[in-house]
Amino acid sequence: MRATQFFVSTLKDAPSDAEIVSHKLMMRAGLIKKLSAGIYNYMPMGLRVIRKIEGIIRDEMNRAGAVELAMPVVQPAELWQETGRFDKMGDELLRLKDRHGRDFVLQPTAEEVVTDIVRQEIRSYRQLPKNLYQIQTKFRDERRPRFGVMRGREFTMKDAYSFHTSFDDLKREYQNMFDTYSRIFTRLGLEFRAVAADTGAIGGTGSHEFHVIAETGEDALAYCPDSDFAANVELAEALAPTTTRLAPQAALTKVHTPGAKTIDELAAFLKIPAAQTLKSVIVDGDEGIPVLLLLRGDHELNEVKAGKLAGVLSPLRFSTPATIEQAFGAAPGSLGPVGYKGRVYIDRSAAVLSDVVIGANENDYHFTGANIGRDFPEPAVADIRNAVAGDPSPDGKGKLEICRGIEVGHIFQLRTRYSEAMGCKFIGEDGKEQVMEMGCYGVGVTRIMGAAIEQNFDERGIIWPDSIAPFTVVLCPMGWSRSEAVRDTANKLYSELQALGIDVLLDDRDERPGAMFADWELIGVPHRVVIGDRGLKENVLEYQGRRDAEATKVPVNEIASFVK
Ligand code: ATP
Ligand code: MG
Ligand code: MG
Ligand code: MG
Repeated sequence: MRATQFFVSTLKDAPSDAEIVSHKLMMRAGLIKKLSAGIYNYMPMGLRVIRKIEGIIRDEMNRAGAVELAMPVVQPAELWQETGRFDKMGDELLRLKDRHGRDFVLQPTAEEVVTDIVRQEIRSYRQLPKNLYQIQTKFRDERRPRFGVMRGREFTMKDAYSFHTSFDDLKREYQNMFDTYSRIFTRLGLEFRAVAADTGAIGGTGSHEFHVIAETGEDALAYCPDSDFAANVELAEALAPTTTRLAPQAALTKVHTPGAKTIDELAAFLKIPAAQTLKSVIVDGDEGIPVLLLLRGDHELNEVKAGKLAGVLSPLRFSTPATIEQAFGAAPGSLGPVGYKGRVYIDRSAAVLSDVVIGANENDYHFTGANIGRDFPEPAVADIRNAVAGDPSPDGKGKLEICRGIEVGHIFQLRTRYSEAMGCKFIGEDGKEQVMEMGCYGVGVTRIMGAAIEQNFDERGIIWPDSIAPFTVVLCPMGWSRSEAVRDTANKLYSELQALGIDVLLDDRDERPGAMFADWELIGVPHRVVIGDRGLKENVLEYQGRRDAEATKVPVNEIASFVK
């Protein structure tokens, strides 16, 4: 590619709404251009990065035996009604109507559509397993779109869905995808960590997130340096014994609440409105392990909290913004938190609430009037980050450490949540009809572009890993219009490198060296070759890697080996 043909558009300053390094640099390097909140043009330079990321993902998915297809961005609401998500999903799901008044959604993900395809196309165990994936536009009406394409509203995701005759086979494919994701992020040249993300027991966890390690990451991760324990912090906290064993410290009012299995029933027993109960409610224990589930008082959970909450309350995936009611509604049979066995969710903001209803850790009883801090040990409401750092690792093999990460991938054992609801069945070897087991596997393609920058930059700009750089090498001729020798050498080198399959850009804009170098350093091209009259007299060029402090003189005919 020649720079004059291409589209190079750099900025001296980042727009004021860019908060973090990757967003600023992406804007300044002309990779993306904002159209609306969380909605960006992928400019030619940025699109080259995205295509390379997609290429690696596609390559590894194909190698793993997955099959590519593409599903529509605009999807009929009927399918989403079948699984109940049309109503339950909350505002992250963008709903629209066509000219006939029919409801549609913009896909935030595609479980419904892929399950609909498979239930029509696959009848027999002989056609299973299948893993279908797409690399497609997604839309989520995020409450707080920010950080450029890292948390966009429109973004590109690779989403894969696998279908199986048995749970064992799902687990096999899950491991296959786990390994595939590890290969993908290794090839992308990123430092990453896979963490357990389910509330299930360690060892048999049904969900993992892949995080790019970065200080600016929105998520906290807990891991044990002395073992292979690694979990997102919600899970680590749920598993860490020190944060779960809470006991009431003071005499509280114990109320008999026989048979109260829902929030409404509980509220009825306590003679308080359900809405008020929901503000500060909390919940029940199981055998010996008290459970304290605190909710924000503002009646709204942000999506992360809703996700955590639903993870606690049900095996369902629930990853959209939701009101508390919606989150509870996501639990099967609307069992709600009452009577739920097990885990902890702690939110500091709840510490200020008083008169909390809590589980009495005894069947059919609740305490009212609990005051967090007074009746429960303070560590229970400590900041999540501090609550687990230094805690014993749940596997007992050492202490936990905390780091921050950017979620770039998520794999999940869906089991029969969607296949059951949508009647996605097959005839087994024994001739009997059975519901398929399912898994789903997502990668945030456009988010990776930002995450990679968060990990690789300096004061001059981006430093792309070779594997995803928009161009691998840039040729910078000094005096393009002035020197025929420079032009000839540059053109020749350009053709040679192209013939070798190297992604090369020739900067024929006739810019001053300072401006030219600044552009390519900002854009982050990993290899630069300067062609100048002085060097050519000695038959040398100047090579400089993006991380090198100085240039190296390299004989003209050896340059290819430097940039490969
Ligand atoms: P987050 O916790 O960051 O909101 P999520 O858990 O809601 O992400 P998933 O439903 O697991 O996201 O989707 C799979 C992947 O899609 C995520 O791991 C992430 O890389 C990417 N992704 C999700 N939301 C966005 C977004 N708003 N912008 C860009 N990428 C996203
Ligand atoms: Mg989300
Ligand atoms: Mg998440
Ligand atoms: Mg996720």
